[in-house]
Amino acid sequence: MILTVRNKIQILPDHIALAIAAGEVVERPASVVKELIENSLDAGAHAISIDIHGGGLDRIIIRDDGEGIPYDEIELPFVRFATSKMPSDFYWSGVTTLGFRGEALPSIAAVAHVQMVSKFADDIASMVEVIDGGVARKERAGAPAGTAVIVSSLFKNVPARLKFLKSAGVETNYITQIVTQYVLGRPDVRFTFNSDNKLKLTSPGTGAVLDALRGVYGSEKARQFFLFDYEESEYVRVLGAVSDPAITLGTRNGITIMVNGRAIKNRNLQFAVESAYQGILKDRRYPIAILNIVVPHSDLDVNVHPAKAEVKFVQQESVFSAIKTSIRQALMDVPIAVPFRGKLSGRIVNNSGKNSEDSIETRLPFAHVENVIDIEQQPAVKDRLPVLRVVGQIASCYVVAEGYQGMYLIDQHAAHERVWYEKLQRMMDAKGLETQGLLEPVVVEIPELIEQAISPYVESLEKYGFDCEPFGHNSYVLRGIPLVFAHLDPKDLFLSSVYGMRSGQVIDADQDALIKTLACHGSVRAGQALSVAEMQELLRDLESCDNFRTCPHGRPTVLSFDSTFIEHQFGRR
Ligand code: ADP
Ligand code: MG
Repeated sequence: MILTVRNKIQILPDHIALAIAAGEVVERPASVVKELIENSLDAGAHAISIDIHGGGLDRIIIRDDGEGIPYDEIELPFVRFATSKMPSDFYWSGVTTLGFRGEALPSIAAVAHVQMVSKFADDIASMVEVIDGGVARKERAGAPAGTAVIVSSLFKNVPARLKFLKSAGVETNYITQIVTQYVLGRPDVRFTFNSDNKLKLTSPGTGAVLDALRGVYGSEKARQFFLFDYEESEYVRVLGAVSDPAITLGTRNGITIMVNGRAIKNRNLQFAVESAYQGILKDRRYPIAILNIVVPHSDLDVNVHPAKAEVKFVQQESVFSAIKTSIRQALMDVPIAVPFRGKLSGRIVNNSGKNSEDSIETRLPFAHVENVIDIEQQPAVKDRLPVLRVVGQIASCYVVAEGYQGMYLIDQHAAHERVWYEKLQRMMDAKGLETQGLLEPVVVEIPELIEQAISPYVESLEKYGFDCEPFGHNSYVLRGIPLVFAHLDPKDLFLSSVYGMRSGQVIDADQDALIKTLACHGSVRAGQALSVAEMQELLRDLESCDNFRTCPHGRPTVLSFDSTFIEHQFGRR
């Protein structure tokens, strides 16, 4: 008989069970900061200060001016599942607070040393100290109304977790990201964030998202955002601020998505933001966007993630499309003048139709779901290139022009590409491109690899105005080309279109890729001398573009030099 040594099945002691469960809520210092900020917001704070030391591993201190906790209840938050936010509906179909699980403080206390000082209304202020998850001390204290939580020695008792953390600098970055999200998502709250006694971020809490943007990105950049308020249906509303395509980041960290005032992570919605910028930004460049999505609380399941970082929508599709449409419209329609340096930037046209520096500053009750009805609607005015006078051409590549705000340099190829791109798009949306028959058919030979890849799609070339058919081995006979490009060399045009269908190793049969190729092929090149009349025509055409700022590949078409800027540079101001 084999004797096996086995341990009896036992129930884990509380402190171990709690430390294990805590791992789900408190992954790193940034999770502590997130939970504490959320508690302060739930307590109705108007001002929140966050101080961290050593990337949050040495100490995190969060103070708020929220409603506080009565002396009699000060120990309760450290009991697991103790909460003052019990939803009226047990199945969470109506959670309006950020917290609801009663797990954050017990989890933090399981992996750190916690002190909490709080004062509720006229009650006496109290202080508790929690060590190894248990309340070790409770005293009366002198403190202003509100709550302060001090978390130190984080993960000291969980060496395994410490090993997974990054350097203090990296942990500070994670914390900064969380704080930034709340600063931008809750412009109605005044935030101050210090790291190792150095001020990193501050916002005035005026309720204007522009003020919060200033706190995070500085005044100059903040002016280059488009603000919008978009209501797709009774179901979903998107309040947002998105960066001008001229401002981009190399990562997606600038995309903040809040749902009913809660910062969430959602790859799918992040993708909705990116896709709104498709064709406007260069590859691997990302916009800065702050979106506050408002949906009925009953259509949102917030209890799908221990750290409450994810949510589920009943109608995810509607939310996706609302995000995409709202940003698209904002980029095209928001009446912000050309975001160049100088006094013009950041202007907005208000209801009376006159320019006003102030109207963009009006309070946007960003995260205030109750207030959303009061939001002022701004009329839509197209973002247009100003009327320009051609001065000349330089380097056979750029058009120099003058407008009433200053000087402009236009990249002739990029601009022409944009013009063609939009023209072709309109034609394709109407009835496709017309064909111009060739006097003599042309036989075009295509490399075998490419031929194999594109042959299934050649028929679709017909609606682009090509009349062609296979002609023996790796060859096509070309009988007609798009009428609008009748002046171009048929063989070149056909070949580059065929190459254009093949982006990388995959065939991109979608209309956009081919239109981009045709637009590029049909446009004037850099290095081509242009007459004044040709340059004038180019500028007129660019003026009428929906999206004049970039070429279809995302490169800028226009650089501008505001007259104030020029005066400054010449020391005239
Ligand atoms: P939850 O937020 O899910 O309720 P927590 O563990 O985060 O759980 O907090 C427990 C309780 O402690 C809260 O429900 C709230 O009553 C109280 N509390 C925590 N932080 C604060 C704060 N900053 N101000 C006022 N009350 C707080
Ligand atoms: Mg909480």
